[in-house]
Amino acid sequence: MNEYLKSQLVQAAQEFGTPLYVYNARTIEEQYNKLKESFAGLRYRIFYASKALTNISILRLIHSLGAGIDCSSINELKMALHAGCSPSNILYTSNGISFDEISEAVALGAHVNIDSLSNLKKFGEKFKSNYPVGIRLRPNILAGGNLKISTGHDKSKFGIPVEQINEVVQIAKMYDLQITCLHIHTGSEIKDVEIFIKGLQVLFELIPQFPNLQVIDLGGGFKVPYKPEEEGTPMHELGKALVKAFQEVDTTYGKQFEVWFEPGKFMVSEAGYFLTEVNVIKETKHVTFVGVNSGFNHLIRPMFYDAYHGIVNLSNPNGDPHKYTVVGNICETDTFATDRALPEVKEGDLLAFLNAGAYGFEMSSNFNSRYKPAEVLILKDQLHLIRKRDTWEDLIKQQIQVIE
Ligand SMILES: *Cc1c(COP(=O)(O)O)cnc(C)c1O
Repeated sequence: MNEYLKSQLVQAAQEFGTPLYVYNARTIEEQYNKLKESFAGLRYRIFYASKALTNISILRLIHSLGAGIDCSSINELKMALHAGCSPSNILYTSNGISFDEISEAVALGAHVNIDSLSNLKKFGEKFKSNYPVGIRLRPNILAGGNLKISTGHDKSKFGIPVEQINEVVQIAKMYDLQITCLHIHTGSEIKDVEIFIKGLQVLFELIPQFPNLQVIDLGGGFKVPYKPEEEGTPMHELGKALVKAFQEVDTTYGKQFEVWFEPGKFMVSEAGYFLTEVNVIKETKHVTFVGVNSGFNHLIRPMFYDAYHGIVNLSNPNGDPHKYTVVGNICETDTFATDRALPEVKEGDLLAFLNAGAYGFEMSSNFNSRYKPAEVLILKDQLHLIRKRDTWEDLIKQQIQVIE
């Protein structure tokens, strides 16, 4: 982290308090540019998977760069519209949702991917050939950082299992459906190019059965580095492999297919910093605990996924390293990092958790009746508050008191 960014984070904490999420717009733009460069040889579209971070200022920023928005709930779709995205730039990839929501997404004019035979039938009955539709398939490929974030394997709930493709084709014929897109999203934190190509091959084999097909949607799941020595998905290599694969398939079928991507983590993970303050240092026989003024109510990834988040001691960045176990202040085991070497930490120090842009604020809660953090965007060197911290009123406004 460069000195200038450090000073901006310190300033954000002073101005807006902690715990605080801070996002750097420049990093988001850089990530988007990496995608553009890597995929330049393809006919591609990018739809940012907004569930990673849905703040409307973030949606507006990403949309202004040229990306569409991918949604996983009807409210995310409405959020994308609210942020100024036109329906033709919105994709709704469903997963176990009710048919009512699919109908609503159609009424709002978004692209829709359907993930069950039952909803596909209902879609056929209601819309026939009047509205193009995509199919979310489960390719039976094990991919992604761990099982919790793996969505394409043969026991996963996501998508229509590819072995049921004949039933998809039957339903399509019965209702004269225009199936224009085949979609897969096999997991998150997929590092290997071969996994993407393997998924692609599964879809390519199905092309002859879908005469209206225009789009191959490969979902998201690009890996970004979390640990210092880790590497992300080699995007240029992936781009090259995809160009080659699409050239072949375009030639075979005499058609020019588009490829769509739905990156979430790739766009925002590294742009985000979660700032906390050290409440207590607790020395014990075996462990020195650093207790911060937050917990898994604000950043759940370490407890939920065993995720690693780098930590920077902004108050003493060049101090001598010591081993610490960094924990939260809520009434549950709540460990952010175990036996982590950090420059000497004192009570009152400001700690920044790295890679906090994706699935950070978005998965936060009010557990222990704590307030959700505020969010700040660094845009052209200026700090902008883009979400206020919760207040007491937020905690009680939906509750109804019935006991006299
Ligand atoms: C979550 C999700 C994504 C984004 O995944 P990342 O790992 O954040 O890139 C893309 N597409 C769909 C359908 C998703 O559910």
